Amino acid sequence: MPVGRFAPSPSGRIHLGNILCCLLAWLSARQKGGRIVLRIEDLDTARCPMRYAEQMIRDLGWLGLDWDEGPETRGPEEPYFQSRRTALYQAALERLEALGLVYPCFCTRAELHASSAPHREDGRTVYAGTCRNLTPAQREERVRRRSPALRLRVPDKEISFIDGHMGPFTENLEQDCGDFLLRRSDGMFAYQLAVVVDDAAMGVTEVVRGADLLSSTPRQLYLYQLLGLTPPEFFHFPLLLAPDGRRLSKRDADAGLDSLRGRVSGEELLGRLAQLAGFHPSGEPSTAAGLLSEFSWERVPRADIRLPEILFA
Ligand code: GLU
Repeated sequence: MPVGRFAPSPSGRIHLGNILCCLLAWLSARQKGGRIVLRIEDLDTARCPMRYAEQMIRDLGWLGLDWDEGPETRGPEEPYFQSRRTALYQAALERLEALGLVYPCFCTRAELHASSAPHREDGRTVYAGTCRNLTPAQREERVRRRSPALRLRVPDKEISFIDGHMGPFTENLEQDCGDFLLRRSDGMFAYQLAVVVDDAAMGVTEVVRGADLLSSTPRQLYLYQLLGLTPPEFFHFPLLLAPDGRRLSKRDADAGLDSLRGRVSGEELLGRLAQLAGFHPSGEPSTAAGLLSEFSWERVPRADIRLPEILFA
């Protein structure tokens, strides 16, 4: 059976981009008769206090977007909070270590910034491999001064896949990304590892998320391969932008639900978002279920979408 998921990071109040993500994930899975899993991506516990997760769950309920498995609803893959699933990430890390592909990295933030050249056009930096070939003696000496992060050694190899919405996408892991983090120096597991472990464990067959994560997908596919797991299908959708073209951010409370909830109903909001996403021309208020007959990935644009002033508060 198809399984989709909502995987929000509760580092602030949910914004319209997150809501569009949940709506598209819901429609895409439900149209195929699939189930939905809600997983709270709160690895960064300092930035994701519990009250934000609780608020997010209430907001999704207000919107009428339901799920079959998750916190409160429960399910076979409990717990549904990443902060409580670290034993699984540790086990995956150990499998990668056994393959000889993990090494400690002692670079400070400043060192990374200075050495991670060249900066790519999209603002990503490529890790220069500074700690890749340290000798055992060098590692021993450094570990006394600083606890290391852990990185995955990547090959000079292209990873290609066909995105269900954006089409073919290819990246050379070494040239476009470099050896990437699996665990930070403070012990926090990296998103890339956790998301793969969890999507596989939770039986997710389709991942719907914003196009800002398109370039994470080759790294994740490489992890699926190394861990012997079956990858889901991926659908990346265009980002919602503020009326002036800026990216939305939770921190700035852009297009957050705080002010919108007082002005519009959940059904009005879903109707307007579905209109912006190209598959509900009338923009009339609708329940999520009411949009099932109109939704199709082919109708969703591929270019970023600017929010109208009226939805931007
Ligand atoms: N937790 C991520 C976010 O809220 C989404 C990760 C994903 O969909 O893979 O941006």
